Amino acid sequence: MTLHIYTSLRRIDKIYQQEKHGSKMAFLDGNPPERLCMPIVNHIESLGGEVRLNSRIKKIELNEDGTVKSFLLNNGNKIEGDAYVVATPVDIFKLLLPEDWREISYFKKLEKLVGVPVINVHIWFDRKLKNTYDHLLFSRSPLLSVYADMSVTCKEYYNPYQSMLELVFAPAEEWIACSDSEIIDATMKELAKLFPDEISADQSKAKVVKYHIVKTPRSVYKTVPNCEPCRPLQRSPIQGFYLAGDYTKQKYLASMEGAVLSGKLCAQSIVQDYELLRTLGQRKLTGASIH
Ligand SMILES: Cc1cc2nc3c(=O)[nH]c(=O)nc-3n(C[C@H](O)[C@H](O)[C@H](O)COP(=O)(O)OP(=O)(O)OC[C@H]3O[C@@H](n4cnc5c(N)ncnc54)[C@H](O)[C@@H]3O)c2cc1C
Repeated sequence: MTLHIYTSLRRIDKIYQQEKHGSKMAFLDGNPPERLCMPIVNHIESLGGEVRLNSRIKKIELNEDGTVKSFLLNNGNKIEGDAYVVATPVDIFKLLLPEDWREISYFKKLEKLVGVPVINVHIWFDRKLKNTYDHLLFSRSPLLSVYADMSVTCKEYYNPYQSMLELVFAPAEEWIACSDSEIIDATMKELAKLFPDEISADQSKAKVVKYHIVKTPRSVYKTVPNCEPCRPLQRSPIQGFYLAGDYTKQKYLASMEGAVLSGKLCAQSIVQDYELLRTLGQRKLTGASIH
């Protein structure tokens, strides 16, 4: 379970001015596979599509002219198509990048986009904390960026007697290699400052019933100066090959809404290229040369 909050707060100043619903936040009411992914899978299948799980791309295989021949999957299967989309995180795509494409400026610029480590901390307490709200909270702690009491904000985790805090522990560069118990100790010390009446680092106040730590060594790309021009458009310079994902060019920074928007822009590019892709596909079938 991860904290999934659709928030547009990232560019708060601009968003409030430009976006009608810029100040809206909402929690996914339940676990993401069931509540977020399954409806998408159902929609794809209802339109005749197929969703294959546990089928990672191992290699992007090329034709002699540098276009994509197939995606080789880790189960040995090969996927061939008229249009190819890679929607993995940028760091994974860089590992899959074919040697022949590395010097192309569009792909070379991706080197500047590097994911930051983030840790997600889930803590179940033996009591209900009084000073939490039905909202995402930005914390004053230098280690805990945002958090929420899921027992208040999400129906599925609602509990009138015990709080369950979910926290984003970042920046986490110095902590990603630490043990879970070191991370939970550091979290409790910070929480003791945020909830001085209710939490103490030695647990003499609220007690931790259980906890769960999720480490993401390469999360969303780090926004460093001049990284914006390095974000790629969804249509690549390779005919029939497209990228999608939060790091690709769209008006938001890396976020869930940004990822969704990138998918829409990617789909639009493929629709615009439909005639070209169809012609290329037919030429491949008849064995005619592709230029
Ligand atoms: C702790 C944490 C908290 C966050 N909180 C928020 C938040 O509150 N609000 C918000 O808007 N955003 C938040 N984000 C950011 C948000 O999760 C990302 O921006 C978003 O998920 C990016 O979507 P994506 O589709 O680009 O990539 P991903 O969601 O990373 O999806 C990429 C997919 O590619 C798959 N994949 C990987 N390798 C391969 C391969 N070789 N072949 C095929 N598939 C592969 C992965 O399994 C994955 O399903 C948070 C991120 C983290 C880590």
